[in-house]
Amino acid sequence: RAKEDGRGRVVAFDDELDIERQETKAAEDRLKQALAQGDITVVYQPLVSARDGRLTGVEALARWPAAPDGIGPEIFIPLAEKSGLIDSLFFTVLCQAVEGVKVWPDLELSVNISPIQLCNPEFGKRVAAVIADEAFAADRLILEVTEGVLIAQPEQARRAIDGLRAIGVRFAMDDFGAGHASIGMLRHFGFEKVKIDRSVVALQDPVLLKAIIELAAALQIPVTAEGIETEEQARLAREAGCEQLQGYLVGAPLSLDELIALKDGVQRRTGTSRH
Ligand code: C2E
Ligand code: MG
Ligand code: MG
Ligand code: MG
Repeated sequence: RAKEDGRGRVVAFDDELDIERQETKAAEDRLKQALAQGDITVVYQPLVSARDGRLTGVEALARWPAAPDGIGPEIFIPLAEKSGLIDSLFFTVLCQAVEGVKVWPDLELSVNISPIQLCNPEFGKRVAAVIADEAFAADRLILEVTEGVLIAQPEQARRAIDGLRAIGVRFAMDDFGAGHASIGMLRHFGFEKVKIDRSVVALQDPVLLKAIIELAAALQIPVTAEGIETEEQARLAREAGCEQLQGYLVGAPLSLDELIALKDGVQRRTGTSRH
């Protein structure tokens, strides 16, 4: 084929690949630098009770305000995974978030982990050390995980999950219903929470929602609906039996200052104090 296309095209193709590789390398270097300089920040998306709308938790989401070309987590998380920076990114997010929300003992904290992190035998110990250092109650922490390596390295992942679970950390299956079915994973790893992916929520299909929730209920796992953008979606999720809602309708990701204002406002209205 190379001959048919002629030398010129083959060379041009090689050049293109080379440029792509160089760009990836440059982005990796910048991410590494951003992590070293403290340029990765955290925003907090509200998780509310489906029953009464009360704020029960927040999900920490990584942000890179000065990212090249304004790339978001869907680009820089895979970049961090490929370049060995994912642990550094995760612990940056975990430390910042634990520090940020520790003043509110009633608030749960969800943090995303990349499944490959569970293959690192040091992972559990390092998480335990962070929460111990900050005197953060382990049962406030929920680690959100998608499938992936759970399937590739189930025994190693199991050990990491069981170790953290023994100290009180809980695990949520994230993005349920997107991509590969993970019904077997739900049972095998004993997740404490299932988060229905927003692509499923967007279908607005009550039969489908109820089927997922019945499955989770049979396994005694509470369900959160992600990506709730409309009143109709909130109503369907509530009626199907979701315990918790998350999405732009109930709250966009907030800076720590915005979260403080929200918590203070709520507490002032209900007559309790932060101190
Ligand atoms: P996720 O864990 O499923 O997080 C929810 C994503 O949906 C967030 O995107 C959030 O901003 C977005 N979202 C929330 N409500 C709505 C809504 O109503 N409509 C729509 N269209 N979107 C909504 P974000 O922050 O861009 O993060 C994307 C993904 O990147 C996350 O999906 C998570 O898998 C990953 N991610 C983010 N931060 C971290 C991190 O610190 N570590 C790891 N490993 N992954 C992370
Ligand atoms: Mg998540
Ligand atoms: Mg999700
Ligand atoms: Mg996701």
